[in-house]
Amino acid sequence: MVPRDGVSLTTMALLVQKFGGTSVATPDRMREVAEQVRFRRLQGDDVVLVVSAMGSETDELLRLASAVADRRPGREMDMLITAGERKATALMCMALADRGVAAESLTGSQAGFLTDTTHQNARILEIQPDRVRDAVAARRVPVVAGSQGVSTDRDVTFLGRGGSDTTAVALAHVLGADACELYTDVSGVFTADPRVVPRARRIGRLSYDEALEMTATGCPKPAMRSVEVARARRVRLHVRSAFTWEPGTWIGEEDSAMEQAIVSAVTHDTSEAKITVAGVPDRPGIAGTLFRRLADLDVNVDMIVQNVSAGGITDISFTVPHGQLQASRSVAQALAGEIGAGAVTSDEEIGRVSLVGAGMKTNPGVAATMFETLGAGGVNIEMISTSAIRISCVVREADVLKAVSVLHEAFRLDAAGPGGRQ
Ligand code: ASP
Ligand code: MG
Repeated sequence: MVPRDGVSLTTMALLVQKFGGTSVATPDRMREVAEQVRFRRLQGDDVVLVVSAMGSETDELLRLASAVADRRPGREMDMLITAGERKATALMCMALADRGVAAESLTGSQAGFLTDTTHQNARILEIQPDRVRDAVAARRVPVVAGSQGVSTDRDVTFLGRGGSDTTAVALAHVLGADACELYTDVSGVFTADPRVVPRARRIGRLSYDEALEMTATGCPKPAMRSVEVARARRVRLHVRSAFTWEPGTWIGEEDSAMEQAIVSAVTHDTSEAKITVAGVPDRPGIAGTLFRRLADLDVNVDMIVQNVSAGGITDISFTVPHGQLQASRSVAQALAGEIGAGAVTSDEEIGRVSLVGAGMKTNPGVAATMFETLGAGGVNIEMISTSAIRISCVVREADVLKAVSVLHEAFRLDAAGPGGRQ
């Protein structure tokens, strides 16, 4: 067991620690991480490391590929990109060896990550971590390359951007680790993006559901997929800084003994665009056809709003990632032609602002306060969607930062009071 502050004093623990790109960006950073591992082992803990590619190396490899060719087969892209993490594992092992800590670098394949064949966004099917376990048993620190595996076709695969978080959480689960520590360049998960709201506060504890809603609505770290795995497998996460080493944010079970925050955080996202199909005949099967065709294209549709129909016709609006706008428009236009609907329009200048909090379930009035606050700030609401613990509004993209600020203020999230919590 690791106590809440993450410092183990008496009992031994098995920790999976993941270090993101900035945390291993330079030789100095590598040495500092290695020193931390040495220290944790002196305390009696066993450590399994997962590392990302150094600094912005993944971006550089992607740029290099674009500069070389227009045609970039997925198989070769994955072989290229995964080299970044592989390089980091070897260097990290050298930094550890320098401190007298025996270590062993492992590619995703060597660590036993079996994936499907979807290049650049592979899914983990199974993990056979024998080599990781053997290393731990022999008191060697396994240093596993993040975000990669080997496919059922025996090709190297990349789990996608941010996939190292998923590697770490999945490994923590199969190893039965006491906790999974995700080290990054910020000191935890915040009540809002600190670049937008300087008074944003680090959140001490979050439930899996809150963390999932936050990462689904724009909170960049940890990666959403890793939170999904952690929630499904009940892996306790600790998101913390590799620069200050102070305790960060714990993500775990909802604690019924604690008073829940009504609102824990404000998140925002400007990565989506809105499509509207006007004059849709209001009869069964049309929405099903439209969204089935989008699903067949792997479009990740987010908010969906259908108007009350007037005179037998209605409008349907939905949001999609910017990168999928053109394909989605084409699908909507083709269907509109077939069913005799009106114009298909799109709008890229939208943004979404969301309030997330487990206590919303049982506290009325959150939506009212949110809408009043946006109204008082002169921010017009274009679409609304809710879950049991989240309310999201689509607004003008130009209004997003203001919306985040006024909501953070209105719900007093800078104070660990009734609205916020520590
Ligand atoms: N290096 C990859 C990225 O930046 C994968 C990862 O580290 O999570 O997305
Ligand atoms: Mg990363």
